[in-house]
Amino acid sequence: TNSFLIHAIPPYMIHVGDGVFAELSVKKYSQAICCVDERVWQSHEQYIRDVIKDMTVIVIPSGEKSKSLDKYQVIIEHLLKNHIDRKGVIIAIGGGVVGDLAGFCAATYMRGIDFIQVPTTILAHDSAIGGKVAINTDVAKNSIGAFHQPTTVYYDTQFLATLPEREVLSGFGEICKHMFLDKHFYDFMQAFPDLAVAEENIETILLHSMQVKQKFVEEDPYENDVRKYLNFGHTFGHALEQISNYSLSHGAAVAYGMAFAEYLATPIGIREMLINYGLLTPLQLDVDFDTVYNLMKNDKKSVSGAIQFVLMDVIGHPYAQVVGESELREAFDNWRMEYL
Ligand code: NAD
Ligand code: ZN
Repeated sequence: TNSFLIHAIPPYMIHVGDGVFAELSVKKYSQAICCVDERVWQSHEQYIRDVIKDMTVIVIPSGEKSKSLDKYQVIIEHLLKNHIDRKGVIIAIGGGVVGDLAGFCAATYMRGIDFIQVPTTILAHDSAIGGKVAINTDVAKNSIGAFHQPTTVYYDTQFLATLPEREVLSGFGEICKHMFLDKHFYDFMQAFPDLAVAEENIETILLHSMQVKQKFVEEDPYENDVRKYLNFGHTFGHALEQISNYSLSHGAAVAYGMAFAEYLATPIGIREMLINYGLLTPLQLDVDFDTVYNLMKNDKKSVSGAIQFVLMDVIGHPYAQVVGESELREAFDNWRMEYL
């Protein structure tokens, strides 16, 4: 197994590898409770049971809708009923949804208790670092949240065997983002030039990809500076995700967003690489410029209507730039001809 330390406050260890979940230890806690994604529970119940023994399990319905105030309350009530005190721990087993939801419960229950993260999706390599936890409201995604670091992350690649194709591609969207942001990781990935080869080497790729995220987050934990570059592809990607009513996965949407960003800057092979990883397939979506433009203006990262983009002219050298409407319209026309 591979382990590394995240220098957050407080610092914590990430263990990556086939079978690392079995190393889960809750000896130092008074009680432990597990929140498990429904699909993960269906596919891996016995594997999980063997490790968690008789701990209470809360099964969380699959999907973004679970990051809600309703589910938040359900979990809090379980914690109270099970007499979880300040020395208790929540174990989150699932993708970003369960991680964000259970993490937010841990951040706020009794003003904060420990939580252990067991990511089961490729995309969750992203959410396992950075300490952001949140739930959604009807008005906006991630609108109620906190910074709360896990105490340990057990990233057991065995869970990934049952991950549906759509979620594999979504995860690779974020891996590719980290690859474009870091020349070293980009060069490393040249040994895994397509999705099939990359999937066979997922453990080492996840390790590298997480270390890119770690580098940005450690330099700027509260997103005042370089951490914003992690939003590469997200301004346009988020708009597209909303237009598709979330039928498009997050990572796939980010991939279209990175392609869009490339139309705003010097082409450096971003689209070609994304295609090699199975991304950027033609969309069956009704998208027009005005809808995208208005959603991007409302993005929480836009300041008084000015839309800031993360762009790149050289791999590993992102920069932020405000882009005006006419330039966006032109890039959108190019984008539309390719993907709609
Ligand atoms: P997810 O948690 O919804 O999982 C995707 C789907 O895969 C679900 O249907 C789930 O049931 C299923 N699944 C999960 N693991 C499986 C497995 N091993 N086998 C079979 N099916 C499995 O989505 P996600 O893509 O992991 O995460 C998306 C969420 O993460 C979003 O809500 C996003 O806001 C959040 N996120 C948070 C951060 C952060 O920094 N906190 C970063 C990125 C994304
Ligand atoms: Zn993302």
